[in-house]
Amino acid sequence: MNAFFDKANDESRWQAVETRDNRADGQFVFAVKTTGICCRPSCRARHPLRKNVLFFDNVAAAVGAGFRPCKRCQPDKQTAEQQRIARITQACRILESRSEPMVLAELAALVAMSPFHFHRLFKQVTGLTPHTWQKALRAKRLREQLAQGEPVTRAVFDAGYQSGSNYYQQADKVLGMTAKQYRQGGERTVIQFVVGSCRLGECLVAQSERGICAILLGNDGQTLVNELESLFPHSALVAGDELFSQRVARVVSVLEHPNQPFSLPLDIQGTAFQQLVWQALREIPVGQTASYRDIAQRIGKPQAVRAVAGACAANKLAVIIPCHRVVRNDGAISGYRWGVERKRQLLEIEAEQQEE
Ligand SMILES: [Zn+2]
Repeated sequence: MNAFFDKANDESRWQAVETRDNRADGQFVFAVKTTGICCRPSCRARHPLRKNVLFFDNVAAAVGAGFRPCKRCQPDKQTAEQQRIARITQACRILESRSEPMVLAELAALVAMSPFHFHRLFKQVTGLTPHTWQKALRAKRLREQLAQGEPVTRAVFDAGYQSGSNYYQQADKVLGMTAKQYRQGGERTVIQFVVGSCRLGECLVAQSERGICAILLGNDGQTLVNELESLFPHSALVAGDELFSQRVARVVSVLEHPNQPFSLPLDIQGTAFQQLVWQALREIPVGQTASYRDIAQRIGKPQAVRAVAGACAANKLAVIIPCHRVVRNDGAISGYRWGVERKRQLLEIEAEQQEE
């Protein structure tokens, strides 16, 4: 992942400006002392002299320092790309909220796009066609229902498989074994992973065939690989291929910008109680925090404060399941699987981004 530019480094930032690298848009803005204007890295306007340039992490910081947003590149507006990604994210949330599969035309209409463009963009953003994505979603639901102890017939039906004589076969195909065998724990999956670095240190991103299943943070890659092994002792771990490495870039971008939508499919593995807690964590807005007691209350188990803390500590998807937004009852930052300092840093990043 060395291909990512180092956004904390001014020389690297300046290089992005000089090459008008639009991948750097949204990561910082540059301001020109002589004109009082701030721009996106990719702005088409003529370049200022290096000595007149200041860098800011975001447009709010530049405006706070007295600069005006450029009228040409409009760093204060969402880019067309961000708007498109937001629509795909919206489509994913719609799919997750429905129990029945949806046809392309219907889904595209709900986010006001033509089926053709929607299909192309969906694939570009998630790496899957809407059809395959829905298949993965049904498979995930089926596994969750089975893990929660639902009777097989009911689990298959609730996961959205069409009823009919062949629905068991459909489910078996998805699971790679019969639902009954799956229940007995005969699973052996392949997990791809990549280790890279980001603003928060080293990060490991892992993906099963169902979606992103682990995002781990640390100071050292080998320790992260060991951690992954202990989390998925029954899986075959393999180095990520080219396509996966590209998707990791998107994950890293969200690690550094938690207010961006995250639309890759997730493979969230945990007990029913953990899933309940993690779902509640995902409902804490960016830039806000909640206490362990708040979460216990929100999931209707006010006595389970300690168990909530345990579920937070068992989170395998750093940032995406924002366990860093849970603080002690007195508001103090404590206990983070990936280090208290990193938790503090994440909360700071989010507070900054809320100002944007
Ligand atoms: Zn500009």
